[in-house]
Amino acid sequence: MPDAAAHLPFYYGSIARSEAEEHLKLAGMADGLFLLRQCLRSLGGYVLSMVCDLQFYHYPIERQLNGTYAILGGKAHCGPEELCEFYSKDADGLCCPLRKPCNRPSGVEPQPGVFDSMRDNMVREYVRQTWKLEGDALEQAIISQAPQVEKLVATTAHERMSWYHGNISREEAERRLYSGAQPDGKFLLREKKENRSYALSLVYGKTVYHYRVDHDKSGKYSIPEGTKFDTLWQLVEYLKLKPDGLIFYLREACPNPNMPGKSRLLPMDTSVYESPYSDPEELKDKKLFLKRDHLMIDEVELGAGNFGCVKKGVYKMRKKQIDVAIKVLKSNNEKTVKDEMMKEAQIMHQLDNPYIVRMIGVCEAESLMLVMEMASGGPLNRFLASKKDEITTSNIVELMHQVSMGMKYLEEKNFVHRDLAARNVLLVNQHYAKISDFGLSKALGADDSYYKARTAGKWPLKWYAPECILFHKFSSKSDVWSYGVTMWEAFSFGQKPYKVRQKPYKVRQEPYKKMKGPEVISFIEQGKRMDCPQECPAEMYALMQQCWTYRWEERPGFVAVENIIRSYYYSIAAKPENGPDTGDKAKAALP
Ligand code: ADP
Ligand code: MG
Repeated sequence: MPDAAAHLPFYYGSIARSEAEEHLKLAGMADGLFLLRQCLRSLGGYVLSMVCDLQFYHYPIERQLNGTYAILGGKAHCGPEELCEFYSKDADGLCCPLRKPCNRPSGVEPQPGVFDSMRDNMVREYVRQTWKLEGDALEQAIISQAPQVEKLVATTAHERMSWYHGNISREEAERRLYSGAQPDGKFLLREKKENRSYALSLVYGKTVYHYRVDHDKSGKYSIPEGTKFDTLWQLVEYLKLKPDGLIFYLREACPNPNMPGKSRLLPMDTSVYESPYSDPEELKDKKLFLKRDHLMIDEVELGAGNFGCVKKGVYKMRKKQIDVAIKVLKSNNEKTVKDEMMKEAQIMHQLDNPYIVRMIGVCEAESLMLVMEMASGGPLNRFLASKKDEITTSNIVELMHQVSMGMKYLEEKNFVHRDLAARNVLLVNQHYAKISDFGLSKALGADDSYYKARTAGKWPLKWYAPECILFHKFSSKSDVWSYGVTMWEAFSFGQKPYKVRQKPYKVRQEPYKKMKGPEVISFIEQGKRMDCPQECPAEMYALMQQCWTYRWEERPGFVAVENIIRSYYYSIAAKPENGPDTGDKAKAALP
């Protein structure tokens, strides 16, 4: 979450009280001289430091649960800037009204706070511990879910931490701490159900000490006489750095042997976030060709195409069974069709990313089959069309951000997709999208920036950039164009792109007519682009338009696209009223 005061010239960031007083002294000690600094104790809070009658006054400003800011006992304001503006008109309980901002001397930037970096570390640690992720999977998880994870971290994170043991007795806590090694600083946190409070149990010198954790009326946690925190997780993090009244600081978590698992709608909670082969045991068996007797094929059809159909199934691995989608070639298949599928398999074989449908392998039996991870939510366009009344714009931004991350990965690996469209984005669930259908995809040579098709084929022209149609040149930049069309489809809730309103000549005529391929080309050549979908935010339409930059040299790549949509996604996901975990549209629309 960005610092809401970062842009204010009289904001000093994380400086001590004495330093604030120094600045005020240097600026002349006039009545109403003021500055703003970060509060070191509450997450997202500030302190207003000011002068009146040659005396210093410091007023803590709290960020409340609904995202507003207030001085204790004062009115709530939507941001620190608005708060200062209010108090410059009316003292409303302060020593005097704010009169003159004490601006930072030139060249002095706001001091970054302990919690700024701590929050990032907290999110990282939380993701690592909760989902046991490492490497790229960890980085992707942090990028894709930062706003949600920050919220979890802020409120319920302790429930998922290994040091949290839930409602166990003092005796049971001692038993757990005394079992195994007993290094100084080994600790756990437990809940005392009787009065909904908590206790911290800590080993020091082979002895267990217990501390009550107070929970005051304003909801803050502290050990008796200690610093107060908004969350238990912050308290624990702080006590790892400083004993703050404990006999020793916290060091090593005593892991809860029966960690309760909670299901939430985050990609990392699903079984398809990491590759089934990320487990080294399973990797031992990884081969392109799968054994037929490890594959069970259901009669249920998930979809169909020219090649044949996609069926549901189960694949038996060494340690687990996984749900799969199986692309089955029509039985009387010719060699060329088989080759096509093998090419698709060769491409998918080289890809491993949480936002791309992974291939498990191919199986040659009654017919040639491509076995993939299951994305049971089906294609994005169909999903959105059927759930128009329930899906919020921020949900769509979240999904399109995930698609941009998958595409950024493809771009980095030098692959072109060539068929990116909402129909080829499959959902694992409402909050998790994966790119699929690599039937037209190509791996570029190390020195090539595009693929040149010798002849035109059955191409999805409405999704293709001008250089694809005119020169048969395909690059990540032309995938960006398709990404723009996919965005348009998503924000239109699965509408088909490029339709024109009919002139009302005849009474019983469809109001819209589909443009044909050549019409679309001349539409684009005339400099025209599709309109902004009804419920699409202006920022997202601006991004689509960037994706539809005529010249590929001037079009942004996926690194830039992902960055733009990420910033926008974080900015809306951080607002409580737009939070991705606040219900559906109907609820959001209530007064
Ligand atoms: P085509 O090349 O014919 O477009 P696709 O790979 O797009 O083939 O698959 C066709 C349909 O099969 C999809 O629209 C979808 O409904 C279903 N399907 C494909 N792959 C999966 C999968 N991994 N999980 C679930 N459904 C899938
Ligand atoms: Mg398809």
